[in-house]
Amino acid sequence: MNRSITPWGEHALTRYPEDPRDQLRAWDASDDYLLRHLADREAEDGVRAALGGTVVVVGDRWGALTTALAARRTASAGPAGPPPVQISDSYLGQQATRANLARNEAGEARLLSTRDTPPDRVDVLLVRVPKSLALLEDQLRRLAPAVHADTVVVGTGMVKEIHTSTLDLFERIIGPTRTSLAEKKARLIFSTPDPSLARAPSPWPKTYQVDADAGLASGLTVVNHAGVFCAERLDIGTRFFCKNMPTGDGPFRAVDLGCGNGVIGTALAAANPRAEVLFADESHQAVASAEATYAKNGAANPAEFAVADALDGLAPGSVDLVLSNPPFHSHQAMTDATAWRMFTTSRRALRQGGELWIVGNRHLGYHLKLKRLYGNCELVAGDAKFVVLRAVKR
Ligand code: SAM
Repeated sequence: MNRSITPWGEHALTRYPEDPRDQLRAWDASDDYLLRHLADREAEDGVRAALGGTVVVVGDRWGALTTALAARRTASAGPAGPPPVQISDSYLGQQATRANLARNEAGEARLLSTRDTPPDRVDVLLVRVPKSLALLEDQLRRLAPAVHADTVVVGTGMVKEIHTSTLDLFERIIGPTRTSLAEKKARLIFSTPDPSLARAPSPWPKTYQVDADAGLASGLTVVNHAGVFCAERLDIGTRFFCKNMPTGDGPFRAVDLGCGNGVIGTALAAANPRAEVLFADESHQAVASAEATYAKNGAANPAEFAVADALDGLAPGSVDLVLSNPPFHSHQAMTDATAWRMFTTSRRALRQGGELWIVGNRHLGYHLKLKRLYGNCELVAGDAKFVVLRAVKR
């Protein structure tokens, strides 16, 4: 476990799920830079007063910022303001934050998802710039009405994550914006709120209609909240999957694992009126999108929607079929850890004879993993780029 040294204490931080072999840190130089900056400015009257009000942290990856701010509040000699509020799209990030707060006895924080109603007044707004510009715009637009002339607004990110388009968003939605010098490849963003700026609503969610050449997904209307995978058009891997999905008649219980906007599970439900579908994803934006996509297409099948880490927590043997287009990167890093977790938790959740069907880039070599875990793996379909694979729990 790695220890983060902050102005308000040293904190042992981990990612979620915890993996002792995982040497990746749960924070980076942009978190350190932001915390140092706040500590340096704490002596300024305006900043001290703001820090005693409602402090909101958007996009904290694994809870490093929230843990430090909760510890600051716990340690403060004067009257403590409300606990810091974290707004996150990621269930994994929220679970990590809970564990990091508890392990370090840092004190309380209020954890909200990106779909929850944000606080109606924000005195300090700290933004860890997300990978998705759309998600940043959506969150800034949702929070702008709560920002007032004295709100301290600071963004942070690694230099490679902060683009002109990122700064334009702060400028258009919050007010005049400048950046700090880079330190250890991280940069801060300072925005001065301009209450006279016109308040436009978030342009999200956005909807598109799938064309006729997409197998079981043909003609579906897909609803996408900001930041979901392939929000503007059908992914080519998903398209290939929808052309090669199982078409058996129910009744059975299926899962759309890593559902994103829910197009795969909705296509399955439309083709199998007796199938019951669980849509699961670690992103709150994704699960909300899947729910909206499902409702929009009028399928009458029973459906459930869950924010979860793969199929962790699902009763063993309770599922007949799992469908997935697994992710192959997480927070910018290429990794097959998530796919592996999806395959292992699916195996546990499947009944004997139940099936996992996946689509993946041919070069990812998922068939080797599935063979190792399930003892079998069949190629259902393949083209130059993608394969659809099927593994049976025996
Ligand atoms: N099924 C959708 C499609 O085909 O358009 C989305 C596929 S996208 C390649 C992978 C999805 O897996 C993303 O929506 C991502 O949020 C989700 N995901 C990543 N890690 C996860 C985890 N640990 N548990 C559940 N879902 C996860």
